[in-house]
Amino acid sequence: MAFDRPTKKYPMPEQDPKVRATNFDEVALGYSLELAMKEAERCLDCKKPACMQGCPVEIDIPGFIRFIKAGDIDSAINKIKEKNALPAVCGRVCPQETQCEGQCVLGKKGEPVAIGRLERFAADYELAKGTQNVTVAPPTGKRVAVIGSGPAGLTCAADLAKLGHKVTIFEALHVPGGVLMYGIPEFRLPKRIVQQEIDNLKKLGVEIKTNIVIGKCLTVDELLEEEGYDAVFVGTGAGLPNFMGIPGENLNGVYSANEFLTRTNLMKAYLFPEYDTPIKVGEKVAVLGAGNVAMDAARTALRLGAKEVYIVYRRSRNEMPARLEEIHHAEEEGIKFMLLTNPTRIIGDENGWVKAMECLKYELGEPDESGRRSPVPIPGSEFIIEVDTVVVAIGQSPNPLVPRTTKGLEVGRKGNIIADENGKTTREGVWAGGDIVTGAATVIKAMGAGKKAARAIHEYLMSK
Ligand SMILES: Cc1cc2nc3c(=O)[nH]c(=O)nc-3n(C[C@H](O)[C@H](O)[C@H](O)COP(=O)(O)OP(=O)(O)OC[C@H]3O[C@@H](n4cnc5c(N)ncnc54)[C@H](O)[C@@H]3O)c2cc1C
Ligand code: SF4
Repeated sequence: MAFDRPTKKYPMPEQDPKVRATNFDEVALGYSLELAMKEAERCLDCKKPACMQGCPVEIDIPGFIRFIKAGDIDSAINKIKEKNALPAVCGRVCPQETQCEGQCVLGKKGEPVAIGRLERFAADYELAKGTQNVTVAPPTGKRVAVIGSGPAGLTCAADLAKLGHKVTIFEALHVPGGVLMYGIPEFRLPKRIVQQEIDNLKKLGVEIKTNIVIGKCLTVDELLEEEGYDAVFVGTGAGLPNFMGIPGENLNGVYSANEFLTRTNLMKAYLFPEYDTPIKVGEKVAVLGAGNVAMDAARTALRLGAKEVYIVYRRSRNEMPARLEEIHHAEEEGIKFMLLTNPTRIIGDENGWVKAMECLKYELGEPDESGRRSPVPIPGSEFIIEVDTVVVAIGQSPNPLVPRTTKGLEVGRKGNIIADENGKTTREGVWAGGDIVTGAATVIKAMGAGKKAARAIHEYLMSK
């Protein structure tokens, strides 16, 4: 007899698009216990679970889903936490469609199990309860410095602390969390959630020192040679914004996405003047690019009061790198997509403020080295659109400060630190992982790198 298994995911309750486009509250509201248990019922509990091959931190997915099915959420979260230190974050921001859910067998005939939503549910349940159940090994007497408190650094620190090492994180900004705090907006990833996950790490004994820029206040060499650290992990990310290199990029009203989002998220400019940091957004905003960063900047501009917001992207919809759910949410909120289009110059008024942008139309050619079809400009297709704000979101590069100030730390052509598959760099005692090694990637890949490096650092410390 065929079991009546729904072919679609149970929908997750969301804020209405019209309402949410005017506030910074979280868009997706999360499953209830009842919905989570129903969704968990859809899982086939496969003998050879394909989903797990898609998870960079190797979560036992059918294992935790089995517990949700039985209503035992405490055991579900413990199962997840064996592998993932930030499940409330990953459940919200992982591109599941290309990872676990992309591999789930149910996806062949219908929709895959909503693994991300279930992970989020279990993590939120634990955060709401305010307790956590993790054991820490007895102290080993070894000390590790972790540079950067993004997902790579936080994961590496958590795993090393659980193994009994004394870990200190050094963070340049005044708040830990990396992109989770300054980049990804409140309406996708509430800062309260990130803060709670960070507080849980502190309970493992991890010390976090903020406002310390390594390479300026202290160097990696000093940490190893003078401050008595036995090993260092570099997780400094790719926070250096790329620009187009077109005329007019220095006009008033042109932001890097990094600045735009940092003002809004980290400095809470959307609550100005209650918070001191201002942000100026006009009525017509063009966001250049189509990754997650571009979607976040566009949706932020809308919430800051812009009347029209355009995503300007030189390829087509199929090539857009953002998470599917974010593209869908952006469309629902009224963001307009100007595809196969690229600006050639930004035009200013007599006072140096943006007033328009000249663009060129594109068509798709042969695949390029990224495997995506290349954008080819159509000669003579120039046109002008009126805009008063431009946000450049065409990618970020690794910050060069740590490599430049560390002896023997080799970097690649694009400034990324060279490391093997376990994060070992060319400098003895130094590991690296996350965006500083790979270039801008994903939260979970950064976490996977932090985890592998922690394993390798542990072996190194115990053999010393
Ligand atoms: C706006 C935006 C949206 C995104 N959305 C998604 C998404 O939906 N899903 C997804 O999977 N990924 C997303 N990403 C990508 C993801 O956030 C990154 O891949 C991930 O954060 C990389 O982690 P990391 O730990 O390597 O670096 P980061 O998160 O960049 O953290 C690096 C930290 O190091 C600190 N640092 C840098 N230099 C120094 C120094 N010299 N001394 C001390 N500290 C230093 C920085 O201040 C920062 O806190 C997004 C990125 C952005 C910018
Ligand atoms: S592949 Fe899909 S159905 Fe099978 S165990 Fe994983 S989540 Fe469940």
